[in-house]
Amino acid sequence: MLKDCRTVWANCLRIIKANIGEQSYRTWFEPIVPVQLHQNVLIIQVPSQFFYEWLEEHYVDVLKKCIYQELGPEGRLEYSIVVDQGNGQNKPRTVNIPTARKAEPSRPSTDAAYVAAGALTASARNVAAAASAPAPDVATLRNPFDAAKGIDRNYLKSQLNHSYSFENYIEGDCNRLARSAGLAVANKPGTTSFNPLMIYGGVGLGKTHLVQAIGNHIKSTSPDRFVLYVSAEKFTNQFIESLKTNSVQDFANFYLLVDILILDDVQFLSGKDKTQEMFFHIFNHLHQAGKQIVMTSDRPPRDLSGLEDRLLSRFKWGLTADLQSPDFETRIAIVQNKMQQDGIDIPPQVVEYLAHSVNTNVRELEGVLISLIAQSSLNRREIDLEMAKQALRHIIEEIEAEVNLDFIQKTVAEYFSIPVDLLKAKTRKKEVVTARQVAMYFAKEHTSHSLKSIGMQFGGRDHSTVIHSVQTVSDLIDSDKSFRSTIQELRKKFAGK
Ligand code: ADP
Ligand code: MG
Repeated sequence: MLKDCRTVWANCLRIIKANIGEQSYRTWFEPIVPVQLHQNVLIIQVPSQFFYEWLEEHYVDVLKKCIYQELGPEGRLEYSIVVDQGNGQNKPRTVNIPTARKAEPSRPSTDAAYVAAGALTASARNVAAAASAPAPDVATLRNPFDAAKGIDRNYLKSQLNHSYSFENYIEGDCNRLARSAGLAVANKPGTTSFNPLMIYGGVGLGKTHLVQAIGNHIKSTSPDRFVLYVSAEKFTNQFIESLKTNSVQDFANFYLLVDILILDDVQFLSGKDKTQEMFFHIFNHLHQAGKQIVMTSDRPPRDLSGLEDRLLSRFKWGLTADLQSPDFETRIAIVQNKMQQDGIDIPPQVVEYLAHSVNTNVRELEGVLISLIAQSSLNRREIDLEMAKQALRHIIEEIEAEVNLDFIQKTVAEYFSIPVDLLKAKTRKKEVVTARQVAMYFAKEHTSHSLKSIGMQFGGRDHSTVIHSVQTVSDLIDSDKSFRSTIQELRKKFAGK
């Protein structure tokens, strides 16, 4: 009896449906159209290159199983990928993927799939056609990525803030490498070896400013390129939303249109496996197509726990550059620059006083400056040293009442009932690690030691470990009630000093 492609595919779908989740089925299998059955070769049409790769990577086993069942050991599956069907002149392009002839299907490696994909890397045209190719279901029509189908990339919003530029990004030893790499990327996106470019550093040190400056620069020199700035948090939320509305395909299509993708705070992807997987695919596609990827993180890639190794190894393809806390001279230059931008005048000794007193991060420095300006306009009084001292009293008090590092280590070790030497030792036992992180946190908060110097006094650890510890403790304070009270108790011990 002669079988037709629709019957065969319908039978396959039954097997597939029984083997995978409902949502995956709807997302990845419902849009497939069987197009031809010719001598044991079933051709199915998939909406895009991306779609094909996803199937090959995630569902190859079940596909092989059902083809084997339906068409026997000689059965094969081929994909027809919609490249362009807008005017009906281009035939769908087909990628041939032979399925296993043995009952035990073997899984092709991801890399092989990418080699196959190489020639067809998603271009805007490809994606555009893919997005409009299959009869869209209702959920697809309602999804937030419909803009991608309009395809006029000039109108796709970049989510950039125009006030961040290279001109107002003050250069210092703390950011020289990151800034010049950023400038190189901004001048030649996708063609330098800094792809991806990964910028990391503690909070408020200028990561977002720098990557936004890259985006703005490219936008101003090449307005036709689609630059997209997105926080990893927003990316994650959009992805989750697309899962809910059954429009993952549109989500992916949208991102595949991007020429310069700026993903801020990638540490947010930690532990979010599915989102990471999606990002991995998008990353590969864009990278392969010579598109530029820029990322930021609050810690060095090696400390990004909860991120898959294959994703981390991708990050190493380009350049990783860190941002340090600015030194005194750079802080002065930053304050002066802000004053100039805002058209205000502050006596030099006040500027120096500010730069001296606020040495944590640039965001705090700006915050203090803004509150000073506000007070001055409120009281109709020129900003002078007296006013600055008054405004900064609480900060200065902290600095003057500085406790020393030995005292912090001793107090924390005692609190956690461990010998103080363990704080400086190599051990990674959980309770020691926690105590060490807490002690580093207080060292950062209560002393003027640099991150490097703190790290040195905890058994020669480097500054990024200190950044990581401070961040971990801050996160735990936010998320864990009992940890918060531990910190409060300890803080009291230091406050009186
Ligand atoms: P992050 O993203 O690292 O937390 P941001 O980029 O948001 O930090 O920077 C915090 C603030 O400090 C922003 O207002 C930014 O403009 C300013 N800033 C940081 N570094 C510099 C710099 N080198 N020159 C001028 N302003 C800076
Ligand atoms: Mg930021």
